[in-house]
Amino acid sequence: FWLNSMTMRDICVKGLVERNLPGYAIGGLAGGESKDSFWRVVAQCTAALPEDKPRYVMGVGYPLDIVVCSALGADMYDCVYPTRTARFGTALIPEGVLKLKHHAMAEDTRSIDPSCSCMVCKTYTRAYIHCLVTKDAMGSQLVSYHNLYYMIKLSRDLHTSIIEGSFPELYAIFYRRCFPKGMYLNGSAMPWMLLESISCHAVILQLALKIRSNYRCCGISTRPRER
Ligand SMILES: [Zn+2]
Repeated sequence: FWLNSMTMRDICVKGLVERNLPGYAIGGLAGGESKDSFWRVVAQCTAALPEDKPRYVMGVGYPLDIVVCSALGADMYDCVYPTRTARFGTALIPEGVLKLKHHAMAEDTRSIDPSCSCMVCKTYTRAYIHCLVTKDAMGSQLVSYHNLYYMIKLSRDLHTSIIEGSFPELYAIFYRRCFPKGMYLNGSAMPWMLLESISCHAVILQLALKIRSNYRCCGISTRPRER
């Protein structure tokens, strides 16, 4: 089935490219398949689609997916995740996620993300939002505001880094913060210096696949359970 579906994708991409469309959507993903399959299909499609047309990955996604798919050549995304997870009291931060319902937040006087300059982070403490998220809709709204700000900033940073030619550095910073203990390839520690020189599609895909196995180690779920 897997080989057949990959072949069908090739046939489909070829037919769409021949029609010379103004942009292309990559769909049928983010529906519960493994990350390995997901990233491989995105890589397969973006490699075959024209670079001068927008390439839109439908229903994506989590910050990690957006960074990886951008590395693989995708341009556009859409997802309910930032606001849906906010309704469950979860904030997006550079290190992963912050569960504001957790009792540890009850006396935490820091902002959601001290490095964030959004209105929520400049105004409210984690403790205050912790009180709200368990009792009042305003809590979800504040966390949604921060999460959307986070995603917009991430998208802008990705865009700027591609234009300025500094994407590998941004990629390395993103992963260093998500995975402070480093990554492992074939059992050996992967030097962060090496990551900063990465620009090859295939290498990024291989790294992304390896990263997947480490992703849960820092308390980040690649597939949130809430629906
Ligand atoms: Zn913020």
